[in-house]
Amino acid sequence: MVTVLYMAPGDKPDPWRDAFLAQMPDADFRVWSDDPAKDETGDPADIQYAIVWKPKPGVLKSLPNLKAIFSMGAGVDHLWNDPELPDGVPLVRLVDRCLTQGMSEYVLYWTIHHHRKMGVYAGWTAEHRWKRLRQADAEQRRVGILGLGELGSDAAQKLVPLHYQVAGWARTKKDIPGVESFHGPDQLIPFLNRTEILVCLLPLTPDTQGIINKDTLAALPKGACLINCARGGHVVDDDLIAAIESGHIEAATLDVFHTEPLPDDHPYWSHPKVTVTPHMASLTVPHSSTEWYVKNIQRMEAGEPPLNTVDRGTRY
Ligand code: NAP
Repeated sequence: MVTVLYMAPGDKPDPWRDAFLAQMPDADFRVWSDDPAKDETGDPADIQYAIVWKPKPGVLKSLPNLKAIFSMGAGVDHLWNDPELPDGVPLVRLVDRCLTQGMSEYVLYWTIHHHRKMGVYAGWTAEHRWKRLRQADAEQRRVGILGLGELGSDAAQKLVPLHYQVAGWARTKKDIPGVESFHGPDQLIPFLNRTEILVCLLPLTPDTQGIINKDTLAALPKGACLINCARGGHVVDDDLIAAIESGHIEAATLDVFHTEPLPDDHPYWSHPKVTVTPHMASLTVPHSSTEWYVKNIQRMEAGEPPLNTVDRGTRY
């Protein structure tokens, strides 16, 4: 029997408890709470695995027999808020078929939206205007994805059969059929120069913080659109707003923000060229993400290393 601690302050644990016990009925599934009356941690020495989202700093270090920490999201930037993350305990990213599918749906939906200028039509509809633009040709539309990992590469591969010209930028060179590969800092500007619809699917790390700024936005062709479904910290908000106001950037779809929920008075909410979605590009689904935790726990219990561990050096 394994003992698992679920720690996602503010979230409802029951769907995860139900999903976990359905797949690993003999597990001891405990829920951490800040409220001592509700906290199920018990003896910290019992806990072998932790499933966490924005864990309370210091708690993970207090678990002496912890074998792995599972992030409930693909991004692990939330973990670095804990300055006492225990050394030597593997950090495992979430890789999940529903998460990947959801993100690709979001990227395809908004890519087509910007390609077909649906935002312009929505404005005309509101004014009861019957007006058409010249139809765009997907074969001439250049889409570029920042980050070609689990999520970026799936979205890229799904855009290829729709006939877009697809490219991606990563740290290392990729070989994905139909996708032009750019890599490393030297190839960022050439990648941006050819990109009309830019999708951000990078992890938030010290290297990628603020990567969408006045210089990189200026490297995009005039009229380019942005879809940011990674983290708010990738974008310098004032630079994006200035680039939209100047007409250089035509429109942006933003799912993630420096402060979430997005403050009520933030200019993004009411900007006619900005679409805000509430960090829903792809949500963690209990039954499918639990397949990932259970698979990794079974591997580790069999003496194998977990899959998709985080490199603490690169921070992703
Ligand atoms: P991943 O598999 O770790 O892929 C990360 C990609 O970014 C890799 O291709 C990596 O390059 C590239 N990269 C990292 N640092 C780089 C740098 N300094 N320069 C160039 N490329 C760099 O991550 P993932 O699972 O695809 O997830 C990506 C992000 O999506 C997450 O970190 C999270 O923030 C975000 N996300 C958002 C939502 C939402 O609902 N909005 C949901 C899920 C995830 P290499 O391949 O060369 O290593």
